[in-house]
Amino acid sequence: MSNSYQGRYCGVCDHELARGFFSLMKRSQTVPGSEPGVVLVSDDNVLTDFCGQECADYAETAISSTLTSVYPTTAKTVPCSLCLRAVDRSAPHVSVSMSQFEDASEPGLVSARVVDELELAVYCHSCAEPRRTSEAFDMSELGVPV
Ligand SMILES: [Zn+2]
Ligand SMILES: [Zn+2]
Repeated sequence: MSNSYQGRYCGVCDHELARGFFSLMKRSQTVPGSEPGVVLVSDDNVLTDFCGQECADYAETAISSTLTSVYPTTAKTVPCSLCLRAVDRSAPHVSVSMSQFEDASEPGLVSARVVDELELAVYCHSCAEPRRTSEAFDMSELGVPV
């Protein structure tokens, strides 16, 4: 039986993922602000997967250390995580977050449920261009050690 984590490996320790896992996500998103909690996502990419809390924490620390401003608030305007220029959340912008997943696959349906999510960074247009379609992602954009 297939599941949502089959054939995916941890980006830190190379172990195969288990039922509960973490993923670093890069999104192009817009927060319209008309209704609380509504986020329009035009592009959603998994950058790296992690087998558990320890490896996710390790990656989070590595990423945070390369950024000027981490853990943006939910305010309408927040500073860019790299250059501190104002990022208007009501316009399309790039956001990177760590999501915790739990496999919820059933026979014939591969899916995972989001248990928890933490936004690590937002980027202004000069630092990261929001994308409308999925493209290969260059990890060097984030300063993540490869
Ligand atoms: Zn791991
Ligand atoms: Zn910037």
